[in-house]
Amino acid sequence: MPDRTIAAISTGMTSSGIGIVRMSGEESFQIIDRIYKGKEKLAEAPSHTIHYGFIRDGEEVIDEVLVMLMRGPRSFTGEDTVEINCHGGTFVVNRLLETVIKHGAKPAEPGEFTKRAFLNGRMDLSQAEAVIDVINSRNEYALKSSVGQLKGSVKKKITDIRNKIIYHTAFIETALDDPEHISVDGYGATLKLTVDEISAVLKDLIDSADDGRIMKEGIQTVIVGKPNAGKSSLLNVLAGKERAIVTDIAGTTRDTLEESIQLQGLCLNIIDTAGIRDTEDIIEKIGVDKAKQYARDADLIIYVVDSSRELDEDDKKIMDLIYDKKSIILLNKSDLDIIVTKEILQNEIKKCCNSDGNSEITIPMIEISAKEEQGIKLLENTLKSMFLHGEIDLNDEIYITNIRQKTALQEAYNSLQKVNESITENMPEDFYSIDLMDAYESLGSITGEAIGEDLVNEIFSKFCMGK
Ligand code: GDP
Repeated sequence: MPDRTIAAISTGMTSSGIGIVRMSGEESFQIIDRIYKGKEKLAEAPSHTIHYGFIRDGEEVIDEVLVMLMRGPRSFTGEDTVEINCHGGTFVVNRLLETVIKHGAKPAEPGEFTKRAFLNGRMDLSQAEAVIDVINSRNEYALKSSVGQLKGSVKKKITDIRNKIIYHTAFIETALDDPEHISVDGYGATLKLTVDEISAVLKDLIDSADDGRIMKEGIQTVIVGKPNAGKSSLLNVLAGKERAIVTDIAGTTRDTLEESIQLQGLCLNIIDTAGIRDTEDIIEKIGVDKAKQYARDADLIIYVVDSSRELDEDDKKIMDLIYDKKSIILLNKSDLDIIVTKEILQNEIKKCCNSDGNSEITIPMIEISAKEEQGIKLLENTLKSMFLHGEIDLNDEIYITNIRQKTALQEAYNSLQKVNESITENMPEDFYSIDLMDAYESLGSITGEAIGEDLVNEIFSKFCMGK
């Protein structure tokens, strides 16, 4: 039995010029004819045409609309699809959806349109996942890599690798079935060449996954420093607006604030935390523990030091927290008399490192004045060189950024290493094919060729409504 026709609002739930209600399924054309009033019957109209008219619920006219018709399989879902463009008020769009449902459609689950596109073979799973990534893209890099994946870049690369694996597996199986005619003598050496070549490609993809994630999702950044060092002021300068509460009383920033900031193509997800210091104040303590937790999980720690005051024990605790992480130190308040210089800080940090027997300090230090907005450009350039290195060129590279896909790549890589071990240990050939097939299946889960229904449901449930 075919799936029922589904419907949802495909545009955002705010007032806007146009709103779209989309239907997909066998009954789409019948349902639209029950409620559409225009020059002609839409069920008889050609595919990929647009029609002007009115939507009516019985005698009541709901809205003036443009209706787009796309017959399967030449539609996003592969099914008959109707898109109704109406006026974009939230009430009218909802009323339209209600009408469509009243006349036979069922409300779509989140991601159900894309799920149908996948199940109907319109796209593989990596492309379906790219749809949500395009929607969630927050910067140029994220958008480019998602669109690349949507166009099939990941699918192509993975399919090429799988084809190589299946070729060798088929050869081994055939040879084992027909030992009189096909010899596998010395085959291990040939196979090892392919396994090494594929492993190198997988390794590159796995290694680039973290860089890709940073470009796509942004750098999880924590600003640490004692109360009054100027953390909130810095956040305000970077964000270009009054966001955090800036005051002179130590410990004002009690909880954490989050702000996404675009800096020269990089996205910084900044978490401004309560100043790290020992405190008896319970509310403040919650913030301090959180700050330490965030600092441990962050991609980048920005440590703000008030350079107009002597360092104390609290600063040393912060240094202990950051010296072995990807961090940057800002000597703030450079407009005042400077007491803490870079040299002093270098020496203090060296002491932290020395206790670990490590004396190499590579943490960049920059003098800034959040108040006078001095040194901010240098900070931006430094961050860019810390995270981009000019290595990332999305025009010809594929970046796997999705954790699920990365895990599958790692599993495939591990299985291939087992194949190599079997070759080295001169194991019987059927050992090779077992691990080759494991690698083949792990890679298949990226494109969705070897994947259970539960996982499909879980993946698509993360989508937004109407997609
Ligand atoms: P936080 O507690 O670390 O978030 O510090 P705030 O951003 O609230 O700043 C504490 C005080 O230091 C405020 O009075 C700010 O105006 C002041 N301040 C912050 N940055 C600078 C700076 O670069 N120079 C000077 N002179 N004062 C600053």
